[in-house]
Amino acid sequence: MEYIHPEDRAAYLKDIEAVFSGASTRHSCQYRAKNKYGDYVWLECKGSVIADADGKPLVFAGLMTRLDNQNKYDPLTHLLTNYEMQKYDFSTGNGAILLLGINAFRKINNTNGFLYGNKVLVALSECLDHFTDKCDRIYRFQGDEFVILSPDGSKEALCKLFHIVNDYCNNIRGLKSFSVSAGLVSYPEDGTDFNTLMSNLEHSLEYAKEQKSGWIAEFSEKISQRHLRTSRLHEALTQSIHNNYEGFELYFQPILDAKTKKITECESLLRWKTPEIQDATPYEFIKILEDSGEIREVGYWVMEEALRHAAIWQKKYNNISVSFNVSYIQLLDGEFIDKLIATAKELQVDPRLIMVELTESCNADDTKMLSLQFDKLQKLGFKIAMDDFGTEYASFGLLHDVTMDVLKIDQKFVRGLIREGNKTDMAIIENVVNMCRQLSIQTVAEGIETEEIQDIIRSIGVSYLQGYLYSKPVPAAAFERMVEGERR
Ligand code: C2E
Ligand code: CA
Ligand code: CA
Repeated sequence: MEYIHPEDRAAYLKDIEAVFSGASTRHSCQYRAKNKYGDYVWLECKGSVIADADGKPLVFAGLMTRLDNQNKYDPLTHLLTNYEMQKYDFSTGNGAILLLGINAFRKINNTNGFLYGNKVLVALSECLDHFTDKCDRIYRFQGDEFVILSPDGSKEALCKLFHIVNDYCNNIRGLKSFSVSAGLVSYPEDGTDFNTLMSNLEHSLEYAKEQKSGWIAEFSEKISQRHLRTSRLHEALTQSIHNNYEGFELYFQPILDAKTKKITECESLLRWKTPEIQDATPYEFIKILEDSGEIREVGYWVMEEALRHAAIWQKKYNNISVSFNVSYIQLLDGEFIDKLIATAKELQVDPRLIMVELTESCNADDTKMLSLQFDKLQKLGFKIAMDDFGTEYASFGLLHDVTMDVLKIDQKFVRGLIREGNKTDMAIIENVVNMCRQLSIQTVAEGIETEEIQDIIRSIGVSYLQGYLYSKPVPAAAFERMVEGERR
């Protein structure tokens, strides 16, 4: 009952009670119910009672159909639906289409609740209605995506509209500012049927979101090629996973104590190659794994591999710590943490020599969950690091909610140190280091490429050094030679 719209409950109850009281053998009713996203959708429920030979009710069976899939209008925004758009004839005429998506809508929903999310959707639909021409058709395509179809319009006009809408989203009374991204196509140039046009629009929107929030991308050959490459890489990655992680390898990059300049630690970094694909960067293939969710499986492999090396080096070199990267989605179920604890136990690795680096681009929205999971690890001695500190707006929020042992200052700030007259990066690093000292958090500077930067970093008092000046990430055997060379 709690899922049914309050206005429809009475009608629903009356109809269903008639069946269960025996007054009727048929149930037929339309009502709104909340789906798993918290949106009300229209349902039609029809059922009947089947009696046994004696006329006694045997079974009550029926069928529930989602009505608004086939409805002309979206019940929330009252815009035309996706279903309606599929009926449109794109094979004649010259027009342009814009696909708009709200940036970080999942986050908006998660932090403010779905009712607030609905308000954002309604406000955006009203804005679209207000700023579009009379002959434009506006559809709520799906979730947070809207389509503006301009039957005789131009891409230029829709591009202009996009910027007007984006400005407007900054300033809606009662709502926090948000932004939209968009993909843009024209027909017949980019397709003459619904499926082709929509798929080209989706790829363009995806491209726009990757470039920058609040951006618009016109469909082009480049976007089409990118999509092809992503699909090809994805297919090959899945194949590698199925073939027992063939093609994946962990490299290790040394991390030095800033005082002694001795290797005390290393970061595990994932590499992937197949005979056909040799040039995929970690940024490229990890993003694909994150988007598909397969980073969970690969993440287990990385964790086990990192711990396996840690176990060897713990015996061989006594006290070299090993860190590895985890993406936020790997932590969404508590299983990862339990598996890590169990693996460390099984391989007899001292947890104090293991560090988990949380890549900050994760946009963690459930910091309470993170905090609980990390507490569990830290109690056992595992170390937690926040990666790429300063690159995402949530840095301080995350620091506030989650206890960190180590903070890794992003390369962006480190590299800027030698730029002439650059006081900003210096001030940022100095203050971050100061803050960490007060909080008993250790710091690592990443991306040290020159002696000059190293000297500045050491003078500021950063605890650990990492960068090409010492070594690029290398295979395990090469890392061992490095450690042994240093100890000799
Ligand atoms: P990250 O965690 O920030 O890793 C540091 C990156 O900086 C590495 O790139 C490393 O090779 C590079 N780097 C280190 N020192 C220098 C330097 O002095 N100069 C320059 N220009 N670069 C330097 P890499 O290996 O390409 O990894 C890229 C990113 O991919 C990592 O950034 C991390 O976010 C992600 N990643 C790598 N392995 C894994 C993994 O096993 N799991 C997950 N979830 N993410 C991973
Ligand atoms: Ca890292
Ligand atoms: Ca980093």
